[in-house]
Amino acid sequence: MSGPNWITEKSYHNTFSMGFKVKAHLHSEKSPYQQIDVFDTDAVGKLLLLDGKTMVSDKDEFVYHEVVSHIPCMVARSVKKVLIIGGGDGGVVREFVKHPEIERIDLVEIDERVIEVSKIYFPHCTSGLSDKRVRVLPQDGFAFIKKAKKEYDIIVVDSTDPVDFASGLFTDEFYQDVFNALTDEGIMMNQTENPFLDEWGIKNIYNNMRRVFPIVYSFNAPMLIYPGVFWTFGFSSKKYRPTDLNPNKIPFMTLLQRNLSWYNMDWHKSAFSLSNFHKKLIGQES
Ligand code: SAM
Repeated sequence: MSGPNWITEKSYHNTFSMGFKVKAHLHSEKSPYQQIDVFDTDAVGKLLLLDGKTMVSDKDEFVYHEVVSHIPCMVARSVKKVLIIGGGDGGVVREFVKHPEIERIDLVEIDERVIEVSKIYFPHCTSGLSDKRVRVLPQDGFAFIKKAKKEYDIIVVDSTDPVDFASGLFTDEFYQDVFNALTDEGIMMNQTENPFLDEWGIKNIYNNMRRVFPIVYSFNAPMLIYPGVFWTFGFSSKKYRPTDLNPNKIPFMTLLQRNLSWYNMDWHKSAFSLSNFHKKLIGQES
């Protein structure tokens, strides 16, 4: 289906795209970095697109934001400082704010306009940005990370796809800088694309992560608005495996997970049991 009442996202690798029936085009602007659009849709509520690519929707935003935050929080033995690179919609910050042990959350987003537009149309995502522990730093994450040394317990790379100013965020040079910026037990989380639609890209991302981190795992979670819905994420760590849950945090999470929409500890433990298809594409032994 297409037509004046439909928006079709920019195609993924020129091969695939998804469409949404539109109720209203709420916002359109060209920031110094990218085209920013917000639509109201029947299927997913409000939908943010950057340079024509789907980023966040009311309907499914909780999946991405909960998995990249609560998984590492439940594995790390201590979380004092967290860094999010990208993530201008604020959803990942909102989830980290739920952990009282965290003292500082740095959000390094290259495009301030994404933050401002999200405050207007996705206030349920940006609600954590006013927390006293949060610092919003409008900078290029690729340059920022080079200055940090053994500082962060968790780093989340919540970026756009590997093109233009985000392409550096998928290289082994960048992963080495992330490794250096992490404490001795640090964990990196990142989104690693759709393996059905980007076989070469996903292999490359996991090869790059393995060149740097001793422990690299993958999992998937459905992202309704991303091309093909089947979305993968990476867990790279210096010391702990993703299924090594911190026993001291189980009582806290038993309470918190009652109020989460996707994450719970049973899902967490099973998420790293992968299909043969997924294992093969990321080069994990069966
Ligand atoms: N969770 C959604 C996803 O991954 O599709 C949305 C992520 S968030 C909106 C992606 C953000 O990464 C964008 O706002 C973009 O401006 C930001 N970004 C891209 N490259 C960046 C860079 N080099 N440094 C900091 N932020 C960057």
